[in-house]
Amino acid sequence: STAKLMGKDAKSKVTFDDVAGLQEAKVEVMEVVDFLKNPENYTKLGAKIPKGVLFVGPPGTGKTLMAKAVAGEAQVPFFSLSGSEFVEMFVGVGASRVRDLFKKAKEKAPSIVFIDEIDAVGRSRNKVNMFQANDERESTLNQLLAELDGFGENTGVIVLAATNRPDVLDKALLRPGRFDRHIYLELPNKQERKEIFEVHLRPIKRADGIDVELLASLTPGFSGADIANICNEAALIAARKKKDLVEKEDFIEARDRVVGGLERKSQIISPKE
Ligand code: ATP
Repeated sequence: STAKLMGKDAKSKVTFDDVAGLQEAKVEVMEVVDFLKNPENYTKLGAKIPKGVLFVGPPGTGKTLMAKAVAGEAQVPFFSLSGSEFVEMFVGVGASRVRDLFKKAKEKAPSIVFIDEIDAVGRSRNKVNMFQANDERESTLNQLLAELDGFGENTGVIVLAATNRPDVLDKALLRPGRFDRHIYLELPNKQERKEIFEVHLRPIKRADGIDVELLASLTPGFSGADIANICNEAALIAARKKKDLVEKEDFIEARDRVVGGLERKSQIISPKE
């Protein structure tokens, strides 16, 4: 959508309360919140506040959610764009979008720029690519690097980016002063899945005795996004059956559907040889 391409400038209402598990990542992210809220504590000692932080982790582990929570906790505006949006753009458009977004972020500083799927623009440049989109991607990447270098130290803009493919990123992006800090978000363990269920069960009108422990044991390998999906799917299933409350069997049915979806996805992604 155009609105998304232009970059959203919204106050995020997400807080750490909405992010379950991810304890280590949260601790590191809290420091970023403090950079935004109390920059003087660092600058008065001559420290340079980091400009770029890279969230690394599998799909659906809460990278976008965490970025929004940083903005929500620090109460600063959140500007976002997605790397994959640039792939189909006309030459020159990607670079100017990046320039405009950073301009707005600087005007509204302290603020956050969030770049989802940075690997889509930030893939290593020295690999020969047979696709035409390459030129556009490169000019977008160059503009991004120029922005990171161009805005001086301690401007109050912190750039957060997310990827599940850190291995393909252009080394230039990872140099000191760019995305030199990495925060890892892993798939949740059983206890963390339980906590994620608890967050996503909050808005659901459910029958007594929904066993969160059981749901957590039935979902090994599921991401936070999959769990959110199960909770919503369960409510949809119960609604279709004209129930007043969502019951255990609805959650089990929803889990089976989500498993089905995941199996189909993994067949597409990794066809059997
Ligand atoms: P992708 O790599 O696919 O973009 P992502 O890591 O950015 O995924 P999000 O978009 O943040 O993942 O997660 C999608 C949704 O899944 C969130 O909006 C939230 O509802 C849920 N979710 C993911 N992780 C968590 C978590 N740790 N706690 C609570 N909810 C979560």
